[in-house]
Amino acid sequence: MAQPHRWQRAVVTGGAGFVGSHLCTALLAEGASVVCVDDFSTGRPENVAPLRDHPGFRLVEADVAEPFEVGEPPDLVLHFASPASPADYLRLPLHTLDTGSLGTRNALWLARESGARFLLASTSEVYGDPQRHPQSEDYWGNVNPVGPRSVYDEAKRFGEALTSAEANAHGTNTGIVRLFNTYGPGMRGHDGRAVPTFIRQALAGDPLTVTGDGRQTRSLCYVDDTVRGILAMAASDLRGPVNLGNPDELSMLELAHLVIELADSRSTVRFIERPTDDPAVRCPDITLARDKLQWEPRVAARDGLARTIAWFRDHPGT
Ligand code: NAD
Repeated sequence: MAQPHRWQRAVVTGGAGFVGSHLCTALLAEGASVVCVDDFSTGRPENVAPLRDHPGFRLVEADVAEPFEVGEPPDLVLHFASPASPADYLRLPLHTLDTGSLGTRNALWLARESGARFLLASTSEVYGDPQRHPQSEDYWGNVNPVGPRSVYDEAKRFGEALTSAEANAHGTNTGIVRLFNTYGPGMRGHDGRAVPTFIRQALAGDPLTVTGDGRQTRSLCYVDDTVRGILAMAASDLRGPVNLGNPDELSMLELAHLVIELADSRSTVRFIERPTDDPAVRCPDITLARDKLQWEPRVAARDGLARTIAWFRDHPGT
């Protein structure tokens, strides 16, 4: 495993979001000062409240699709701003496209002007409804460019194109990570993603709403593993894209039953309509991350889900 890099100053766009707030915490723990740039469109002040008194932490409330200022030049820019759950990006379609395009351009400019390492948070959604399984980085994907989900998928694909062009045209030090479904403490119970939805429903004793017949699969990575992979990628000089995810694939029905068991809940399962263009399968090939970053997930689904359920119990109404 690459040694942790001693960053001086990191900018984390989307730092008040679920993954971003864990990244801010990890960077501060490594001794970096951190500027979190967030417009709170989907993030929450509570996520960064524990960091507000840290002398190395600063919050800049700004929309990254507009020009923004961060003060002293950073040596690392982690570009994580973007609505990420289907409920959010379907509610904020144009904002999602602006953030993925203009926001990525502004974050890249900041990295270029500062001579910083830049990392784009891309997504397994660039693979769309995949015709190859598991998905490796050389698979180009199967995305409907005009479907409702395209506002997210195509924004991320454009962000990858922009990041690659920036590195080629200006020699900016860029990397791209393709994150697969990540879960853990700090998610919102109503963000529409399967894990927080199932946990909220299980803790309330409500039926767990499984879409379709529940046979569609996802591969769930605990947030601590994802953050470790992101920081390993940041510390490397790889351009990527590099998949970061847990290859332990679960059907949605298996996940629902696991959450019911771990939450010790009496909830049942209710099947509801499957959303348009919902991918049938999702599983990362992480050979590249294993070989080049010596990274692989360590937290099993049972453990990660148990920790996440415990967090939701401690944060009712989240
Ligand atoms: P999130 O919604 O919790 O966090 C996103 C953050 O970005 C929020 O705090 C939001 O307020 C902020 N934001 C959105 N648009 C902005 C803008 N224009 N200007 C400034 N801030 C803005 O989502 P997340 O799950 O933490 O995802 C973070 C990143 O990781 C996203 O880029 C997402 O696409 C990527 N990703 C996440 C997952 C996952 O499973 N969580 C999977 C793949 C990719």
